[in-house]
Amino acid sequence: MDEKYVVIIQCDIAHRRCSGFACTDTFYNKEGMFENYEENTKYISFTCGGCCGKGIAAKLEHFARRCRKVNINKDEVVIHLSSCMVTDNHHYDRCPHVEYIKSIVLKKGYKNIIEGSYLSKNATKKREKGIYTSY
Ligand code: SF4
Repeated sequence: MDEKYVVIIQCDIAHRRCSGFACTDTFYNKEGMFENYEENTKYISFTCGGCCGKGIAAKLEHFARRCRKVNINKDEVVIHLSSCMVTDNHHYDRCPHVEYIKSIVLKKGYKNIIEGSYLSKNATKKREKGIYTSY
C-alpha cells in the first residue's frame, strides 16, 4: 500500500474516558485493521469534535493544509472511523451520526474511509454471539 497517512477519528465522548492507547498501539504494531500499512506510514488521531460531528470539517481542513505543505495529497490518506464510533460495545452503541460524519469526510475530499480501528476480542465475541449489535 502507498498510503502516507492514517487518520483515526475517535468519538469525542469516548475520548473523555479513553486515551486512544489501544488504537495507537495496534497501529504501531501493524496488527488487525492496520496490518497492511508500511512502516513509514504516518499516524494521527483526533476526535469528531463532539455531537453531532460537525466539527470534524474544520479539523480536516486544518489537517489538509498541513499535509499540502509536506506534499501529501488526500488520496494518500486513509481515514479510519474508530471502533468506539462505529461498533456496539461495552460503553456505547454505534454513533447515530456516522453517516453524517462520513458525508463530511467525503465532502472534504477524503475517499479512503474504513470503519474500525482496534477491535477488542471480548466485544468481537459478544457481537458474534448477538449480545452486542453488529452493523
Ligand atoms: S457525533 Fe458520534 S462519534 Fe462524535 S461524539 Fe457524538 S456519538 Fe461520538
